[in-house]
Amino acid sequence: KKIVIAIDGFSSCGKSTFAKAIAKRLGYLYIDSGAMYRVVTLELLRRGLIKDGVVDTSMLQSILKEINIGFSYDPVKMVYLTTLNGEVVEDEIRSPQVANHVSLVAAIPAVRTRLVELQRELGKKKGIVMDGRDIGTVVFPNAELKIFMTADPIVRARRRLKELQEKGLNVTLDEVLKNIEERDYIDQNRDVAPLRKADDAVVLDNTNMTVEEQMEWVEEMVKR
Ligand code: C5P
Repeated sequence: KKIVIAIDGFSSCGKSTFAKAIAKRLGYLYIDSGAMYRVVTLELLRRGLIKDGVVDTSMLQSILKEINIGFSYDPVKMVYLTTLNGEVVEDEIRSPQVANHVSLVAAIPAVRTRLVELQRELGKKKGIVMDGRDIGTVVFPNAELKIFMTADPIVRARRRLKELQEKGLNVTLDEVLKNIEERDYIDQNRDVAPLRKADDAVVLDNTNMTVEEQMEWVEEMVKR
């Protein structure tokens, strides 16, 4: 029987690595909800609507209605790439510029309402793994398996730093740690859908776990 697996947790906990590996192992569809918040942030930045940590929301409703957020499959890399109005923006949405503003955008109620609607649409068929901050609490409160991921912040910062350096970005561990802590704070303290563990979620602390160990753990969970 195919199920919905909801994965929530802090930034840079390895949620997407874990979720992608599960999807591959079970033949499920993986949906990255964070990418959708990043796309909206990118669009607002491109339009010059974010200045000094303030978002101009006057055109937000129409922007949210107009933009087309999608995922297109890349058969060479064997991954889904995020698209904005058909343009692949996978690299751009991972930039520090977007990372530094996304939590601000994700705290806007109108943005959440629209994206949750899209996420539920995408999740209509069973056999999906979706990761984010409110998947088990808001998007799919009836998900058959809910996982709440955590890891030591310094371990998370080191992992993220490695990823960014591999992409050729020049950042320091301090900067990465600061961004992670800032995002955690905003995500946990916003008024709408703050990041928290769903009551029926199982906790996975992967500070000292390899991806393979995490897979063994999740396979036991799926069997239950
Ligand atoms: O998961 P990722 O780091 O790509 O998410 C980027 C940001 O989007 C998070 O820091 C959070 O502010 C927001 N987000 C959210 N709800 C989700 C997924 C992401 O608020 N379901």
